[in-house]
Amino acid sequence: MTDHGSTGRGWLLEAVAPLVDSCDVALLDLDGTVYVGADVVPAAPSVLRALRAAGVRPAFVTNNASRPPAAVADHLTTLGVDCDVAEVVTSAQAGAAVVATRVPAGAKVLVVGGAGVREALLEVGLTPVNRADEGPVALLQGWAPDLGWSHLAEGAFALAAGLPWIVTNTDLTLPTDRGIAPGNGSFVALLARVSGRVPDAVAGKPQPPLLEQAVAKLAALRPLVVGDRLDTDIEGAAAVGLPSLLVLSGVTDVRAVLAARPDHRPTYLAADIAGLLRSHRSPTRESDGSWSCGSWNANVLRERELVMVMSDADATAPETAPETAPETAKDGADALRAAAAAIWTAADNGLDVQVDDTVLAALARSGRAMDEGKASSAEQGP
Ligand SMILES: [Mg+2]
Repeated sequence: MTDHGSTGRGWLLEAVAPLVDSCDVALLDLDGTVYVGADVVPAAPSVLRALRAAGVRPAFVTNNASRPPAAVADHLTTLGVDCDVAEVVTSAQAGAAVVATRVPAGAKVLVVGGAGVREALLEVGLTPVNRADEGPVALLQGWAPDLGWSHLAEGAFALAAGLPWIVTNTDLTLPTDRGIAPGNGSFVALLARVSGRVPDAVAGKPQPPLLEQAVAKLAALRPLVVGDRLDTDIEGAAAVGLPSLLVLSGVTDVRAVLAARPDHRPTYLAADIAGLLRSHRSPTRESDGSWSCGSWNANVLRERELVMVMSDADATAPETAPETAPETAKDGADALRAAAAAIWTAADNGLDVQVDDTVLAALARSGRAMDEGKASSAEQGP
């Protein structure tokens, strides 16, 4: 068991045993966590196999409303990640469930979106329609690649008529192979501007419905949220009172971790999803106010507002050789854990901490090396 909830703070807690031992369901974000764009996260297939072998069930939880669960499961399987369709939970499903609590069974619901939204409505016994004059009693909006003016116009007509407005998620942007594209939140903002309204409910992370539905669907007793975004995955986990593992394989870099506001601070952090299979050290406060984690100590020097991260004498001792170290003894994230603890604590005391670029670069380097023994192994030789 971890000590989640048993200390005075909710972030960077200790997991003495591998993190996987503390949960029965891992609520996994997809893009940035299991895959990044077109590429699977290298550790993901083997980590998922290890999870299942340990009796931990995965749930694949995505804010992306465009694809029906079967398409998500097929995609994951193609990437080498075994996935049953029953393990997929989308924001379209969560949105449809929210709509279902507000309208009669079988009611017509206007779709401002695509196949993901349409199938989700059918799944909960509602009737998707494409036009505002077909008698819908609510509107469910979620992104689809073919979303166009005519969908948005129908949405505007329905909103003018006062229909309840449920949206799958409010992510403003959507990362693509060619760069940042508009996400559902941008289209929601457009309709908000046209209608002068705001959505009546949001299903996706960081709002509770998606994570709550995933917990219910898998009957999870001790779920752990795993994701790469502070403002959706980590904030969403905090909003429903669940522990979280932040992975640095997606959009969040070291600078963003250090700048995390209180509700964006993860329970655990790791380079990637392999952090599920490791134990985690927790930074501890020293009598001089600095923070230690493993071989590292970090302090904020108030007069210059700089953060110093120093390895102590045994930082170069043989424990850094992965061949001789226990699997979980040292994962390279301790430097970042110590630095984050020092900066977050200082920020909570009103200090605007400046972090030197060389310190950031060193933390990022240790971060890249942290979960794959390969990197440090290559540097150190046999
Ligand atoms: Mg993500």
